[in-house]
Amino acid sequence: MSCLMVERCGGVSFKWLEQNVIQFRMLADGTLNPVHAGVLLAERRGSFPPIDLRILKTSSQPGEVESGTRRKLKRLLSFQRYCHASKLLRGLMPHTPGSLHLLDDDYLGQAAHMLSKVDTWNFDIFLFDRLTNGNSLVTLMSHLFNVCGLIHHFQLDMVKLHRFLGMVQEDYHSNNPYHNAVHAADVTQAMYCYLKETKLAERLTPVDVFLGLMAAAAHDVDHPGVNQPFLIKTRHHLASLYQNTSVLESHHWRSTVGMLRESGLLNHLSADMSLDIEQQLGSLILATDINRQNEFLATLREHLDNQDLDLQLATHRHFILQIALKCADICNPCREWQMSRQWSERVCEEFYRQGELERKFNLEISPLCDQQTDSIPAIQIGFISYIVEPLFEEWQRFTEPSVLSQIMMAHLHKNKACWSRLRYVHTPVETKTHSHTEEPEPQGGHEEAEDIP
Ligand SMILES: [Zn+2]
Repeated sequence: MSCLMVERCGGVSFKWLEQNVIQFRMLADGTLNPVHAGVLLAERRGSFPPIDLRILKTSSQPGEVESGTRRKLKRLLSFQRYCHASKLLRGLMPHTPGSLHLLDDDYLGQAAHMLSKVDTWNFDIFLFDRLTNGNSLVTLMSHLFNVCGLIHHFQLDMVKLHRFLGMVQEDYHSNNPYHNAVHAADVTQAMYCYLKETKLAERLTPVDVFLGLMAAAAHDVDHPGVNQPFLIKTRHHLASLYQNTSVLESHHWRSTVGMLRESGLLNHLSADMSLDIEQQLGSLILATDINRQNEFLATLREHLDNQDLDLQLATHRHFILQIALKCADICNPCREWQMSRQWSERVCEEFYRQGELERKFNLEISPLCDQQTDSIPAIQIGFISYIVEPLFEEWQRFTEPSVLSQIMMAHLHKNKACWSRLRYVHTPVETKTHSHTEEPEPQGGHEEAEDIP
């Protein structure tokens, strides 16, 4: 029981260390010691270290497992996770008597039940992540690829698919409060809901669905937890590599392409098709650059005003996929209050961590990153008013008549009103423990929950 609990909490015990070193020895048929074992595993992360190593190393606590080692151990554990997820997907639950397995059966049963309602807007991704043992992205993507018929259509090799998804999930930084694999899973679930919108679903091809889900799952992979201005002013190598333009998005895309090739997932397709998929994934992921928000919004408005969107055209479908991904990426304020608030606290915690680093190293503190002056309600109200609302108003116009869009707009307005009330009573929140603000929920915050599709 204790061993299971340790794993569920994401910690690494000595027992796990021993177990995985033994497993690694078996796989590698070598005589490696724990120190050297992880070195043989390819280090893919281009954003590591996210900043000057001297800064990173100051965050290590005495006695804590060094972050690189921890990451490599996690990668070793990932094989167990694939097995776990694939058993769940095939409906093969362990039947050996014993409390541990009974506990696992219970968790996996609840996760499977949640997957049966994966197209509902009140899907609780935080709960799903706990039930799947921190494996939400792999489990969700495997399930969606299956129910969307993509495995059959593209004749995907399941081992390669799990390998690819495992790599993507592992390359998200679990110590980021916001830009982690749970955010990717959340965006993927939202994207799936959008792909099912009547206006879109009847026009999309299997390639479109494949691209939409893949881009959502990988759109922030290897995010270092700091923004582009930070990378530029600290002269990070990614900033010079991508010439200070869409630095993070370019890195997310190139990392995804690297993992696609490493996994061999698309090796059986023609070279032209593989290349086309890689290019389209890039175009989708690069569209999530918030600096290009006005450009996309203006084009969408123009299309809607002129009523000239023709989803029989591949270029128009691609544009709508870009918009759908942008919506999915910033849909947190359109979720039910309890989930929306958690995301808000997490993203602000990530901002504040950057601000603390900037303060510590005498750099100018970036906008929204100063915990002393930038409150969570103020950040959220600005984000909703200038970024989220304008985009979702146009998305509602496009999807009309859509029950989902009506629900999302209702949540958005209620959440904004709640943050407005909190703004006047707000005191700095203890963000490090994700403790929630204790103010009351927005009026009527739950009443529409049963109407959510
Ligand atoms: Zn994102």
